[in-house]
Amino acid sequence: MMYRMLAAQLLFLALLPPAAFAQRQRCGTSEPGAGVAAAPSDCGYFTNQPQAEYEPSCYYEIQVVFHVIQRTTGEGFLSASTIQDQIDVLNEDFQALPGSPGAPGTDGRVRFQLATLDPQGQPTTGITYHMNDSWYLDSGNYWSGVAWDTHRYLNIYTNAVPCCYGYVPGFPSEGLAGQAKDRVVLWWEAVGRNGTSGWPLNMGRTATHEVGHYLGLYHTFCGGCGSAGACYSTGDLICDTNGEANSTSGCPSSKSSCGNPDPIHNYMDYSDDPCLWEFTPEQVNRMRCTLFNWRPLLAASNQVGVGTNYCISVVNSSGNAASIKADGLPSVSANLMTLSATGAAHNTVGLYYYGPSQTQTPFGDGFRCVGGLINRLPPPLVSDGAGASARPLDFSLPPFDAGPGMLSPGSTWNFQYWFRDPTGPGGSGFNLSDALSITFCP
Ligand SMILES: [Zn+2]
Repeated sequence: MMYRMLAAQLLFLALLPPAAFAQRQRCGTSEPGAGVAAAPSDCGYFTNQPQAEYEPSCYYEIQVVFHVIQRTTGEGFLSASTIQDQIDVLNEDFQALPGSPGAPGTDGRVRFQLATLDPQGQPTTGITYHMNDSWYLDSGNYWSGVAWDTHRYLNIYTNAVPCCYGYVPGFPSEGLAGQAKDRVVLWWEAVGRNGTSGWPLNMGRTATHEVGHYLGLYHTFCGGCGSAGACYSTGDLICDTNGEANSTSGCPSSKSSCGNPDPIHNYMDYSDDPCLWEFTPEQVNRMRCTLFNWRPLLAASNQVGVGTNYCISVVNSSGNAASIKADGLPSVSANLMTLSATGAAHNTVGLYYYGPSQTQTPFGDGFRCVGGLINRLPPPLVSDGAGASARPLDFSLPPFDAGPGMLSPGSTWNFQYWFRDPTGPGGSGFNLSDALSITFCP
């Protein structure tokens, strides 16, 4: 039997034209191996245990930096628009955005955006360019001098990696977060929709697949068929993906290698891009678990603000309309969130507050936009000379920890900033910012 298989493989190889040996594999990520001492968790290296707390509730916002590595001739260049196109594909696929090719999948509530601030806090395009012939072939420890804090940024490198369309060097449950080598590598020609690679891998799904690995997913065919009775500890550790004996190529109309339809439309198989359109709910649960347990600072690097602003505010005596913003992570247990306001009256007293519902009721010179039982967040603050103030929150203290203002995972709350404005246009002596709605994670 073994001999026949080997003979068949040799025959197959002999029939391939020589150039085929240089072709890239779909993915160069190694399967999880034995001997890795990874701490157990709900989304561990060897086991998986979906929990309700990891179901999609709040959005995780991930800052991405692309490091474009070119040959010294310039080959390998990617424009900002091509890179933004790849970001768009990631958002379509990870959020199953309606009307997009990823719509049939599962909305994981994970958002990606090019970083707008670099690790030093300076404005950035989220793209760096490098020319190095060795790095271009994915040789050398290029990441050691190039990586941005891998706790806080998803570092994606593009080059002419010879092995494959893309890979990650390991899995987050091995403790990669924070190491300079923690990264996703993509063949530059597979980046973006209508990348130069052309059919059939031209829809940017190489990145979707590799970021799936980056967030803890294995190939659907990992470990072959696995055991249906132990699907959280065999195969791909996921129970709502059918077992699969081997990877899929092309886009077959059907394939069944373990007694059930193979998950050929799953992003973690090797099918052609147009054939791929889903993560399953349990894969989403594992990715969100991985973010929470193995990459806890990644989403906390959010730089565009947590939550959704609503209720447009009106100008005050400084001529501005004050706006509220939250930075950090909308996670109760991470406890890393700061409220801030800009555009308020200068050098005046203000107070943050929150409540369960939304309204837009004239109040003072502005609108009260938070309804229901109001929870004030003392002490009052004094805005600076430009009308800004900030207040770190501590979810372990009242009113967040118990009672009617308790922040529980999955709950949505609305925040607003009230401030004195003695010379305000309406003459009431106070005004308010717009409001911010935030859904909290565990
Ligand atoms: Zn892979």
